[in-house]
Formats: sequence, C-alpha cells, structure tokens
Amino acid sequence: MRTRYRLRYDTRGHPLNDDDLDAIVVGSGPNGLAAAVTLARAGLTVRVYEKNSLIGGGASTAELTLPGFRHDVGSAVHPMALASEFFQRFGLTDRIDLVVPDVSYGHPLANGEAAIAYRDLERTAAGLGVDGREWLRLFRPLVRHVDEVAELIGNQLLRVPRHPLTAARFALRVLEQGSPLWNLRFRGEHAPALLAGAYAHAIRTMPSLSTAGAGLILATHAHVRGWPIPIGGSSAIVGALVDDLLAHGGEIHTDTHIRRLSDLPKARIVLLDVTPRALIELADGTLPTAYARQLARFRYGNAVAKVDFALSGPVPWSAAALRQAPTVHVGGTRAQVARAENAVSRGKHAAEPYVLVSQPSILDPSRAPAGQHVLWAYTHVPRGSNNDQTEPITGQIERFAPGFRDVILASASRTARDMAAYNPNHIGGDIAAGEVSMPQLLARPVLSTDPWRTPLPGVYLCSSSTPPGPGVHGLAGYRAALSALRHEYDIRESPDLSPA
Ligand SMILES: Cc1cc2nc3c(=O)[nH]c(=O)nc-3n(C[C@H](O)[C@H](O)[C@H](O)COP(=O)(O)OP(=O)(O)OC[C@H]3O[C@@H](n4cnc5c(N)ncnc54)[C@H](O)[C@@H]3O)c2cc1C
Repeated sequence: MRTRYRLRYDTRGHPLNDDDLDAIVVGSGPNGLAAAVTLARAGLTVRVYEKNSLIGGGASTAELTLPGFRHDVGSAVHPMALASEFFQRFGLTDRIDLVVPDVSYGHPLANGEAAIAYRDLERTAAGLGVDGREWLRLFRPLVRHVDEVAELIGNQLLRVPRHPLTAARFALRVLEQGSPLWNLRFRGEHAPALLAGAYAHAIRTMPSLSTAGAGLILATHAHVRGWPIPIGGSSAIVGALVDDLLAHGGEIHTDTHIRRLSDLPKARIVLLDVTPRALIELADGTLPTAYARQLARFRYGNAVAKVDFALSGPVPWSAAALRQAPTVHVGGTRAQVARAENAVSRGKHAAEPYVLVSQPSILDPSRAPAGQHVLWAYTHVPRGSNNDQTEPITGQIERFAPGFRDVILASASRTARDMAAYNPNHIGGDIAAGEVSMPQLLARPVLSTDPWRTPLPGVYLCSSSTPPGPGVHGLAGYRAALSALRHEYDIRESPDLSPA
C-alpha cells in the first residue's frame, strides 16, 4: 500500500516542513499505527514516517513470487490480534474478515501421524490418546481464565498481579514446562511435540522459562479464541489501521528513513516504533548516560530466515488432518525440535530445522490463482546468518509431505541478513526486536512502571521492544500513546477507537 503523501527535503537532506504537528510516529508497523490511531482519535494531528514503500512493517502482504500469489511478508497468523485489548476497542473483527479455523495448529509426526490443537480443549485432549488427561490438567485452568493469563505478559515485576491465583497457576506450569521436568507428565510423543512446536516460537534454548511462558500463552489462545487468518493477508489488518488514521486526519509518509530525531519537524510528541539500539542512534548523544547504558545492554535474539512458495496445488501432507491446518509446526518429536532450537542457540544452523509453516490459501482463495496456493515458511538461524534456507525448509516439509517438491512453482528466499536490511527493527534478523528471554520479558527494554516513556521530553518508544513484546497486537503502540496522552496532555482516558 502506498500513500499520496511525500516528504520534500532541504539541501542538506533534511525534511522541509512548516506544519503544526501534535505528534510524529516513526515507523508504520502495527505498533506504530496503533499509536498513531490512538493519538488521532484523541484529536491530535499525527504524521507517520516509514522507511519502506510498503506500509505495515512486520504485517504486510505482497506478490513475492509470481503474479497473483499474495504472500505475507511478515506475520501470517494472528492469535494475539484477537486477544488484544487494543484491537477489541478498535473493533477489528467488525472491520475486516478474519477466519478462525477449527484447527489452530498441527504438528506432523512419523508414519503419517499428526498431533492437532483444535479450538476446543476437549477435542484436542481426545486426540492425544494416553496424554489427553494430562493435557486437560495442564490447560483447563488457563483456558478458563484466558484473559487473566493474557494480562500476565510484559514488565510484571513492578506490578502486583490483579489475579494472583491465575498468576500462580501459570507460574507453576511455566516452571515445570520450562525445566528438564517438562516430559514428566506425558507418556506418548504427540502431546510433548504439540507443545514443543508452540514453545519454539520464542526462538530460544529449550526447555527454558521464556519458551514455556510464551508458548503456553499461545497454546492457551489456540483453545479459546483460536489462531485466525485475515482474508487478504496481514495487510488487511494494517489497511484497517491506515483507513482509520487517514479518516481522522493523520498522514503517512513512506520512503522516509529517519536518521536523527533532530531531523524531524517540531511536534509535542514523538513515538518511535524502533529498537533501543535505534533510539540511541536517533538521539545522537542527547540521552542521559545511565538510560543510554541500560538501552545498550538490551540484547537481540537469534534470527529467522524465510521462504515463500507459490504452489500448483495444496501441500500433500501424509497426515490428512494437516490439510485443514492453516498453521503447521514441522520438526518431528519434542526431542528433535529441541535439538534444532538448541543448535541455533549455540550459533549453528540445524541440519533438520524446526519450520513454522502457514498455508493461508486453504482458507482464503483470494491469495492465489484458482486451485493454486501460497505457502509461508520460516526457520530459526543464528543472528546475522546469510544462509539461504530454501533447501533445509523444503527437505523438512517433504519429510512429512512426500511429493511437496513436485507442487512448487516458484519460491522467494529471505536470509536473516535480508530481513535486517528490509526492516531496521529486525537486528541481525531477530524478528522479535529483542531477545524473548525471561529478564527481557520482565524489563522490556528497561525496568520501569512506564517503560514506553524515555527521559527525552515528549519522546516515547512504542515498538515490540517494549511490553508486551512481539506479535501483531498493537498493544505496545496503544500503551505508549496512552502514556504520552497522560503525560503531555493530561488525557487520562482511552479515546474511543470503535468504528465510526
Ligand atoms: C517473518 C515474520 C513472521 C512473523 N509472524 C508472525 C505471526 O504469524 N503472528 C504474529 O502475531 N507476529 C508475527 N511476527 C511478528 C510481528 O510481525 C511483529 O512482532 C510486529 O510486526 C511488531 O510490530 P512493530 O510495530 O513493533 O514493528 P514492525 O512491524 O517491525 O514495524 C517497524 C516499522 O518501522 C520502520 N522503521 C524502523 N526504523 C525506522 C526509521 N528510523 N525511520 C522510518 N521507519 C523506520 C520499519 O521499516 C518498519 O516498517 C512475524 C514477523 C516476521 C518478520
């Protein structure tokens, strides 16, 4: 999506602008746009600057392989969008079509078998044989209190939990599933593999507290609201945000990489959808030393290498149930997934990597020409890797879907370095904009009750380097905007965000 707005520059390359602006947002990812919408809805004049031609950062859709095949450049599956307070207030489900499949995610195993997580806890447990009862024991208390569980992510150290019983139940499960005791309650292969696939989203050593924490939240959502796919791709979500922003007087300038805060036109509020490292560079020596040191200590995680495929037909999964699963975690047993993830943590490329696969066109025919399909797949690699992962990813899918190679019409590969070059927030290819470790889930990017606010007057961070961390939920942007409204305008209530 391109905009009708363009910046002009002075002879030193600085943006020329005389307008009176209330707020500037740097970066048009889902958090930047959520921030911009919140501020515009509060009555402020808002302008967004985006480095790329394509709006949306990690949530955009484009023809990456062949004409007529529309691939998600970043996010494909949106459990966090349905659970997000911001998107609930924004009325996302009234604005776009989101398909919520019965199968949240699937996980192929040997001999044509698969474990399936349904949007129905009992049905999932029934399919897990000997481990069904333990699956229910693990998830039932979390599923019953899903909204309280969702509240637990992000800088909790300085807050008393509002629901201590749910917090305690969740913490006990994280301690168990994040430790070498993680297999104790299970006897078969299916349930542990199904969990490992969700834990691996955190791109960390397994087992660990952070992989268990992030994975249990994702897996809980899978049994309640589900893992939805937007019709038209993730750019549909961004399109809804852009439409609302423009309808409330906002502007977006694409193809504009902001290098220094001093290059920006004057505005009372500046919200930055960037990493802490970028904030240090943008501030150009103006940050207080102690805060700059804290930001410099923020760590970036391992990376993602992605391959998009145009297919002549559906993936020929051996397990028929996977043909209805928009999201598939490929990598084999729990031990095999852990081995692959732990190799990446040691700075190596896994020989048989864990592969996250999305096949949106089984639900959304608009994504490919009739009868044909798009397939989105990525794997984890060491930060800064320049290895093309087309062959390892193809090989892993072929292992569970013999004949996959025969349906490939074209593919487009992005190495971790390509990811970083496209989006400056993905340092070394880290799509989480900062390691998802336990310390960095509790203090993101610094330990503070208001981690979005920086010591620079009117300047706020609003990216997924701030709570609640990665995912298309808009919450980091929303909370940063609320903090800015409170501090700079004494506005203490959230503006109405609902569709007009
Ligand atoms: C391959 C991939 C798959 C993913 N899959 C999923 C998924 O299935 N589900 C899910 O929920 N999440 C997924 N994510 C994560 C999700 O996309 C991110 O967590 C989310 O987009 C973060 O939003 P953000 O607004 O903080 O940052 P981003 O989306 O990264 O946006 C930041 C924007 O700011 C721009 N920018 C940065 N610096 C500057 C500057 N100095 N000047 C101008 N512009 C600048 C960038 O170009 C970018 O457009 C995925 C991400 C990737 C890359």
